[in-house]
Amino acid sequence: MAIYKNSNFLIILISPSGGGKSSIANRVLEISENIDYSVSYTTRPPRWNEIDGRDYNFVSETEFAQLLKQDQLLEHAQVHGYNYGTSRKYIKNILSQEHHAILDIDVQGALQIIEKDIDAVTIFILPPTVKILEDRLNKRKTDSKEVIEIRLKNARNELDYLDLDKFHYLVINDNFDDAVQEVKLIISAEEKKISRIKNIKNTFYGG
Ligand code: 5GP
Repeated sequence: MAIYKNSNFLIILISPSGGGKSSIANRVLEISENIDYSVSYTTRPPRWNEIDGRDYNFVSETEFAQLLKQDQLLEHAQVHGYNYGTSRKYIKNILSQEHHAILDIDVQGALQIIEKDIDAVTIFILPPTVKILEDRLNKRKTDSKEVIEIRLKNARNELDYLDLDKFHYLVINDNFDDAVQEVKLIISAEEKKISRIKNIKNTFYGG
């Protein structure tokens, strides 16, 4: 059967922390053959269950400053007091393998990428209510009470960015499996955009 090839793009998941974007990204990666994870750089110390090179590339402030200076970051932002950034090289590598790159980044970073001439699909993920977000953050047990307070305050700020009308899709993460399926459906629909499919006529005529 003829293969209609589509060009690859970035999939940017945005949500307040506790919104579920990391779990959704992980599940989407597990069930997709053509999507890879963009491993970010961060100056935040690793959590007990995180592995360097898999969850993040953990770097010192000096190393991060060096990456910035060498223009190795596609976007970068300070989140909860630490620096985070997306590696240009990593993204280039994923796209060159004809895969999509999924990015788990904050709103500021997403906006920087939107401003660039890069093909990116942005999906805002929200828990159904702020109460449910608070319960999820408390249950996660990875952060102290103070950190949770900061994250809830940041969530309010992040929601304000919705008014900019810059993001493409909203997925409500009420039921996890449904949210994953919705993200997959969005990716499928985006792959079928005629503007992303190469040489349709040639492929049709067997070229
Ligand atoms: P955490 O420290 O909980 O893993 O992540 C904190 C926040 O930083 C999350 O909103 C996460 O999406 C965001 N983040 C992770 N990597 C990057 C990145 O490379 N760039 C930006 N702008 N944000 C990131």
